[in-house]
Amino acid sequence: MRTNGAKAKSLNDPFAEARRRMIAVLRRKGITDERVLAAMAKIPRHVFVEEKFRSQAYEDRPLPIGCGQTISQPFMVALMTQLLDLRPEDRVLEIGGGSGYHTAILASLARQVVSIERIPELAEKAAARLAQLGLDNVIVTVGDGTTGWSPLAPYDAILVAAGSPDIPQPLIDQLHIGGRLVIPVGEERLQRLIRVIKGERENRIEDHGGCVFVKLLGQHGWEE
Ligand code: SAH
Repeated sequence: MRTNGAKAKSLNDPFAEARRRMIAVLRRKGITDERVLAAMAKIPRHVFVEEKFRSQAYEDRPLPIGCGQTISQPFMVALMTQLLDLRPEDRVLEIGGGSGYHTAILASLARQVVSIERIPELAEKAAARLAQLGLDNVIVTVGDGTTGWSPLAPYDAILVAAGSPDIPQPLIDQLHIGGRLVIPVGEERLQRLIRVIKGERENRIEDHGGCVFVKLLGQHGWEE
């Protein structure tokens, strides 16, 4: 049920209509997971882009976030999140937190999110925005995510938001059996969206189509 408070808030949100249109576009493009759509209907993407791009915040395309990086296209955020198949009790590791937008979506669907970002300036801004939205189940940390984050491993799901030449082995090692890793893998300018489901003996590897991401730089990614 909608409370009066929530209603008043959405009436005051100048982007509410644009956000509804974005959700309609995501449905048309094939996103079917209602939990993912509900999370994206709730999280204000305009908070995660620079002032000058705010009017474009709900268009289905990536936008610059500074430091040569981009906030991912909403469709890609939705597709990757759908592939992670999150349950409310899950613990998630995100590599390449960037603006923090995808982090916020993950945090509204899972129990806890650890987000690693290699550029301190982006991590600081992301942490501030997440706190401002009251998402207190996130740990934002600065470093090379290609080696994972062992303090809270193993994870139920791992999301990599940058393109990697190969699947970093430490990330598979830090997954629970049955855990899902979603990662763009391939060349510098064009990758395949890969989902790995960790098995007892063998892992299942699925290809979910072409995609374009900035480079995953680090020990098990591209050379810095
Ligand atoms: N999901 C983010 C996407 C940001 S772009 C968003 O929607 O805003 C990818 C991010 O990955 C960049 O911010 C980049 O700095 C970061 N990155 C690249 N290699 C990394 C690594 N080894 N560890 C952590 N972050 C990395």
